[in-house]
Amino acid sequence: MNASASPRIFPNQLLIAGELVTGDGIAEPIINPATGEVICSVQEASGEQLESAVRSATLAFAQWSRTTPAQRSAVLLEIADAIERQADLLASLESINCGKPLHLARQDDLSASADVFRFFAGAVRCQQGQLAGEYLPGYTSMVRRDPIGLVASIAPWNYPLMMAAWKLAPALAAGNCVIFKPSEHTPLSTLALAPALNAILPPGVLNLLCGGGESVGSPLVSHPKIRMVSLTGDIITGQKILQAAARTLKRTHLELGGKAPVIVCDDADLAAVVEGVRTWGYYNAGQDCTAACRIYAQAGIHERLVAALGDAVSSLRFARKNDAENEIGPLISARQRDRVASFVERALSQPHIERITGAAVHSGPGFFYQPTLLAGCRQADEIVQREVFGPVVTVTRFDELSQAVSWANDSEYGLASSVWTRNLDKAMQVASHLQYGCTWINSHFMLVSEMPHGGLKRSGYGKDLSSDSLQDYSVVRHIMARHSGQLM
Ligand code: NAD
Repeated sequence: MNASASPRIFPNQLLIAGELVTGDGIAEPIINPATGEVICSVQEASGEQLESAVRSATLAFAQWSRTTPAQRSAVLLEIADAIERQADLLASLESINCGKPLHLARQDDLSASADVFRFFAGAVRCQQGQLAGEYLPGYTSMVRRDPIGLVASIAPWNYPLMMAAWKLAPALAAGNCVIFKPSEHTPLSTLALAPALNAILPPGVLNLLCGGGESVGSPLVSHPKIRMVSLTGDIITGQKILQAAARTLKRTHLELGGKAPVIVCDDADLAAVVEGVRTWGYYNAGQDCTAACRIYAQAGIHERLVAALGDAVSSLRFARKNDAENEIGPLISARQRDRVASFVERALSQPHIERITGAAVHSGPGFFYQPTLLAGCRQADEIVQREVFGPVVTVTRFDELSQAVSWANDSEYGLASSVWTRNLDKAMQVASHLQYGCTWINSHFMLVSEMPHGGLKRSGYGKDLSSDSLQDYSVVRHIMARHSGQLM
């Protein structure tokens, strides 16, 4: 890790119409959640700047949408290289702005972000589709995939740079122009990349606007020139965006929350489950829509699992001075930490729920909450039903597998799930019955650029990553040519 990459001056310039400019709107304080201190401020985009971004993207679309896949691929590869060149600085900003352990931001977020651009650089050059042919005598049909136009992409705070990569790479690869808004809490890594993006992309193809959901997100969603809105965020935000988008019939791509069930069968490898949940239930302090947070443990393994997991979770290291020792960071804000604390408080006010470990705000600076394990939880409990988005895992005991599958599916969410068993036949049966965008078997959380990520039910319906995402960011068109159907 290059310590000299630690920023002394924080980036605050937006990218509008090919220019790096200061926002004309109000200044938003940016806080380091690991200390609670204000580290800098970033000025929001004004309404006029938003209009300027839309104008420049509209102009740029005329050229960008005519570029070849090979040309766009080359641009995406350059962006991936730029991310890698700046990786130490970007990781450092990600760590300061989100409170993530620096070594994890560098190892996980940065490499994943560069890989996403590389994947889409390849994927856009080898898309597949229906065969051209004569489906009506005398007419040759073919399908094309064309860009949608101007896409407004709106990101959350949990993985700022990675979410930017997930949204920008497929949208740009498909030939769209993008106006990207990072979360008002975590704009720094995206802004740090802005000069490189500006040097690589033609003016207007990508505009980066900072600001709040109401002040900048909402006018973007309502703007008549924007043809698609892509959001990763809360269900309520998704609903608001759908209502606003309906007025101009925009396409929407929604990646909303999750409450991942983890079904642990009697014959599961206990050590693997404990290691898996310790890591993937608490990664990023549980601020992850796929977090392994809702365990259903079969009666024969339940007691041993609760005991072993309790020990493992209480050994998670956080809030230490030496970054390399930390395994998780704080919550993003005092508000989020208090929200997590109130979920746990309400859960523990029920006599059947047992605190195994954690369940307290960490004393000391920053917005840390102790990694928490609660046992004895029941299906109807709020803590089992609602997304906490913090380092809190619940355990519910079950007898029959059919009961666990039915409880797992009894959720408004449908993003990610896992099943743990040594019996592959059983695992495949369970996987086929789960109503989730992803089911891992004897694992959890693993994402790859080649495979789709996205939900069912109120978790939304957009697909990130994979060639499915390229399809989401493009429109299919039918070209039909009439001819005589006979050789001259
Ligand atoms: P959020 O919904 O509060 O904010 C997300 C983004 O939407 C921010 O940029 C915000 O400024 C913007 N926004 C808010 N109101 C808006 C409006 N009215 N119009 C336009 N934009 C608006 O979510 P968050 O708190 O940043 O992130 C946490 C949530 O995101 C959790 O619920 C989590 O599950 C979800 N999430 C989902 C995924 C996924 O892949 N499904 C990934 C990460 C996070």
